[in-house]
Amino acid sequence: MNDNLLRFGEPNAKLKKMLKELSLKLKTFTLPAGWSCPAAKDCLSRANRETGKIQDGPDTEFRCFAASAEATYPSLRKMVWRNFGLLKDALVDGVDACADLICASLPDKFDIMRVHVGGDYFSKKYLQAWIEVAKRNPEKIFYSYSKSLHFFKQFALPSNLVLTASRGGKYDELIDLHGWKEALVVYSEEEAEEKGLEIDHDDTHAAFGKENFALLIHGTQPKGSAASKALQVLKRKAKAV
Ligand code: SF4
Repeated sequence: MNDNLLRFGEPNAKLKKMLKELSLKLKTFTLPAGWSCPAAKDCLSRANRETGKIQDGPDTEFRCFAASAEATYPSLRKMVWRNFGLLKDALVDGVDACADLICASLPDKFDIMRVHVGGDYFSKKYLQAWIEVAKRNPEKIFYSYSKSLHFFKQFALPSNLVLTASRGGKYDELIDLHGWKEALVVYSEEEAEEKGLEIDHDDTHAAFGKENFALLIHGTQPKGSAASKALQVLKRKAKAV
């Protein structure tokens, strides 16, 4: 494996199965959650790079799932920090150098790329690099959830770079202003229904959908928080089925 290239991952089992039925191959890309998320607010959590200990942000309402995963898996932490370092080094030489690195690192075979299972577009230039990557690979689909909306508002995206604006960040007002498709975290199925949103259980709404959708709270939540209580109710319901 080339030490100078970025590493990519596999999708969750549900999405992988669904895409296999459609004969499509998906890969994922991940950065350090929280550390690379300049616009995170309600979700902000970070796993310490060395120890994995989670630290929530000042406004955290629900804990980032990717940060919890990093806390659990040292090998994942190592990979995401490695990716982050390579990208930042490449950006010193500019947007095209960063796009060159990403293109050189892309897996041989994939149809769809989830850009950032954890992490986000951490700078304007970094977003520009992915826009360039999408333009150079028009036959592929790249999709992202993002709260870095202050960067997105500055660019027209190629049609194969699909944005889902993730509500709960510092720039939520831009979602309505630009009419972007959005994802909202809900604490129950009833809440999603009240808001008229379908729940996305496998990322298909993010990758292919045109409408707003909901994500049901999951992962590990801060003790005593509303998110933690909602999660307990959901678990009890699931057991009772
Ligand atoms: S923006 Fe995404 S990756 Fe970053 S802390 Fe929030 S949920 Fe996690």
